[in-house]
Amino acid sequence: MTNVITIPAFGDNFIYLHPCGGGRAFAVDPGDAPLVLHELQRHNLSLAAVLATHDHWDHVGGAADLQSKTGCQVIGVGRRLIPASDRTVTDDEVLTVGEAQVHVIATPGHTRTSVCYHIVPPDGSEPGVVYTGDTLFVVGCGRLLECDAATMWRSLQKLAVLPAETLVYCGHDYALENCEFALTICPDDRRLRDRLAEVQKAVEYGQLTVPSTIAQERATNILLRADDPQVKAAVGMADAQPEEVFAELRHRKDLFG
Ligand SMILES: [Zn+2]
Repeated sequence: MTNVITIPAFGDNFIYLHPCGGGRAFAVDPGDAPLVLHELQRHNLSLAAVLATHDHWDHVGGAADLQSKTGCQVIGVGRRLIPASDRTVTDDEVLTVGEAQVHVIATPGHTRTSVCYHIVPPDGSEPGVVYTGDTLFVVGCGRLLECDAATMWRSLQKLAVLPAETLVYCGHDYALENCEFALTICPDDRRLRDRLAEVQKAVEYGQLTVPSTIAQERATNILLRADDPQVKAAVGMADAQPEEVFAELRHRKDLFG
């Protein structure tokens, strides 16, 4: 079982270190270089690479510093978009980072060039891991900054079809407010109420709200369920297309906060 190291940063960001064999790890979305260097040292790991899900400063701000201090490769989309980037990825590409096989999934929506990274276990004996950046959150999704709702909806559906047991590590800790918002739409949803209780407990005890799983998100994330008759009815759009329902949900979330 891969022991992903979660590094909280900037109040609500998550940076991750993913051990990839031979005493190495890759960092996902390292907005803060000193935090990453500290955790590498604490766990006696060297840095194999930086993987960026998108080019916002709170996800890539530490990349150039980590590259100059460790000589690691920086991997992302758009050489000009990501400081110090030296490896541009494309949709459906499989990268080898250390001993890890990393499947790139293009997920435009939050930004035009957002990607997610799906780490597939070699023998299928343990769950895979997906780093979803600001595309899929625990019981939510990222804001539509550069694309329309239909584009984000299609991207989220690419994540929804990953194996159910896949562990989801997202870019921000918005789990509590996302559950509270979802319950304004579906107040009687039993699974959602249970999820809120779990998240409240984690927050109360100072525990992390990641990882989630694809199965949990399919069950409780209303932004993945815009094709679900219960969710459609809840927003008074029983006959609408899923992308229209998704657009309405995303709009209501923007107003909610
Ligand atoms: Zn972002």
